Amino acid sequence: MRVVRGSLYVVCGPSGAGKTSIIRGALEKLQNVVFSVSCTTRPKRPGEVDGRDYFFISEEEFLNRVKNGEFLEWAKVHGHLYGTLKSFVEEHLSAGEDVLLDIDVQGAISLKRKGVEAVFIYVAPPSYEELKSRIAKRGTEKETDVIVRLENAKWELMFMDEFDYLIVNSDLTRSIDLLVSIVEAERTRVSRNKAFIDELVMEVKGWKRS
Ligand code: 5GP
Repeated sequence: MRVVRGSLYVVCGPSGAGKTSIIRGALEKLQNVVFSVSCTTRPKRPGEVDGRDYFFISEEEFLNRVKNGEFLEWAKVHGHLYGTLKSFVEEHLSAGEDVLLDIDVQGAISLKRKGVEAVFIYVAPPSYEELKSRIAKRGTEKETDVIVRLENAKWELMFMDEFDYLIVNSDLTRSIDLLVSIVEAERTRVSRNKAFIDELVMEVKGWKRS
């Protein structure tokens, strides 16, 4: 059977809503899905691995890549540059794998405006108060960065209406299951199963090549 192009899933939401943990959990349960590793100019946090969490690059290299049109989208988030590599996404989609992006709201809206075909999923905290306490507890950012992230969350939360699905992350296990269900439901769409339908129809009509 010919390779059916994979689907793109854009998972988005303010910092601290829990999208990275949800994505990690869902990736363990799903098959044929890869996580899109972005480029960033942000310094590496303890425990992060270059090439697994991000490609950590200099601002100069990042801007060169922008100039060369290497990013599907890119944005300045909390003072650092982040970008999704076209080549990475395209390579996996054309190999028939689904690709999951963990990007900020500006990036997701820019993909929508460009008409990129994707499933847009928003991860929201149960409340703004809860978001504040999660970011403070995380302890990975300096105090000034915590303030920036909380201020940015205020406008990021204004874009939920533009998305296809909303996951309110009150319980991580449940949120992971919801993301898995979204991917599985999308995979059952008739429009995504044309190759199978064609094969079966050919078989029924006796036209199947052996
Ligand atoms: P963090 O520094 O906490 O890993 O990520 C900060 C924010 O940048 C998160 O909201 C994350 O989703 C977003 N982000 C990560 N990679 C990209 C990317 O390639 N493009 C955009 N627009 N945002 C990204």
